Amino acid sequence: MSYVDETIEMLKEKYAAQPEFLQATTEVLDSLRPVIEQKEEEYKREALLERLVEPDRQIIFRVPWIDRNGQAHVNTGYRIQFNNAIGPYKGGLRLHPSVNISIIKFLGFEQIFKNSLTGLPIGGAKGGSDFDPKGKTDREIMSFCKNFMLELYKYIGADTDVPAGDIGTGAREIGYMFGAYKRIKNLHEGVLTGKGIAYGGSLARTEATGYGLLYLTEEMLKCNGIDIKGKTAAVSGSGNVAIYAIEKATQLGAKVLTCSDSNGWVYDPDGIDVAALKEIKEVNRQRLTEYKKYRPNSEYHEGRGVWTVKVDIALPCATQNELRIEDAKALVANGCIAVAEGANMPTTAEAVKYLQDNNILLAPAKAANAGGVATSALEMSQNSERLNWTFEEVDAKLRGIMINIFHNMSDAAEKYGMGKNYVAGANIAGFEKVLNAMMAQGVC
Ligand code: NDP
Repeated sequence: MSYVDETIEMLKEKYAAQPEFLQATTEVLDSLRPVIEQKEEEYKREALLERLVEPDRQIIFRVPWIDRNGQAHVNTGYRIQFNNAIGPYKGGLRLHPSVNISIIKFLGFEQIFKNSLTGLPIGGAKGGSDFDPKGKTDREIMSFCKNFMLELYKYIGADTDVPAGDIGTGAREIGYMFGAYKRIKNLHEGVLTGKGIAYGGSLARTEATGYGLLYLTEEMLKCNGIDIKGKTAAVSGSGNVAIYAIEKATQLGAKVLTCSDSNGWVYDPDGIDVAALKEIKEVNRQRLTEYKKYRPNSEYHEGRGVWTVKVDIALPCATQNELRIEDAKALVANGCIAVAEGANMPTTAEAVKYLQDNNILLAPAKAANAGGVATSALEMSQNSERLNWTFEEVDAKLRGIMINIFHNMSDAAEKYGMGKNYVAGANIAGFEKVLNAMMAQGVC
């Protein structure tokens, strides 16, 4: 049995109860075969893959908080520090009731390669809690965030581990957490990214993941002889990534026909109105049922359905495993040419295979949504310099990074004879740098 297969078998046995983690590790390890096979004996002696799939540290803690009626509650907090071979740990904090150890481990594992792909010196981590911010008052959110940091502060720092936002953790939550950290440590340092502009945040961080997704998509299409201008697109989600993906797609001349939340989805034949969407989601924190009030021509449907609309480009920007085999079949049948993943692991393994078998250009999350963490790293640089760059400076750097990422993954796929398999290309390109750093640093 090959070293890769042995490692996959070990994971299946040891982590049978962690399906998302198994899905992510199997997918990545499978595509690393050509790299591992080159020096299989040496890597095996150094237990390289075992060290890669086992986090450096897993911190799980109790988070008590008090609701508006004085009732105390307890949630579970997580921080998985996965790998710091190439730089301090970095990765978001997810607040969502679905959060568990498997999801945080899968996200932390993926983060290693994504961060490496950016070309910036950042290691991989992820964290969060099963706390649900939906429907909570600001005071309740504050109570949770302060208590979350009361434990987390022990393990993080500007040169150790720098968390950021993710699902359910936006500027408000980062602000409360930063306030708590500063108070406990008496240290105003770049310990979190996604901060407000007034206290160390970076311009363009809010837009970065969605904009970056479109910069990479535009480059991928261009290199395949296709102009994004005039194309139609389906977007899922209506959160941070989705909103700024829609905004940039529209600026580049594409027409976005859909968006969604966990209750339903919107179809707007005239193209999604980003200003209306921002008001509903960012200002009023309402549901998508409100959209029709702004755009009477649009349709609102309960449940799932975004991928049934005929479009050229699909941009899943909500959550993991949201684009399934039946969705992939519908997209192909409707003549879709490209899928670029804004969310983390939004396409199931079966759907990925179907899309690739049907020659759909597929930009995987770890490359396509790396703009967020890349700009977070730019925020860290600005914090270290104690300087603020302009929006245009950050945006230009982001665009350059995304174009580079596309070429790195495309070149890696080509180098190993994998054609336009960008999924494998991204895994390999991200892995090679981490591999070299881990081998140079010895068994640790
Ligand atoms: P937000 O919380 O801002 O938005 C998430 C969106 O997805 C909301 O519209 C939400 O709907 C929907 N959603 C969440 N969970 C589910 C679910 N289980 N089923 C259906 N819809 C769901 O998160 P972000 O936009 O920040 O993140 C979206 C994705 O992008 C995640 O996978 C995240 O890990 C990834 N990502 C985010 C980055 C960032 O910079 N923000 C960076 C890189 C990746 P509802 O409001 O109803 O919950």
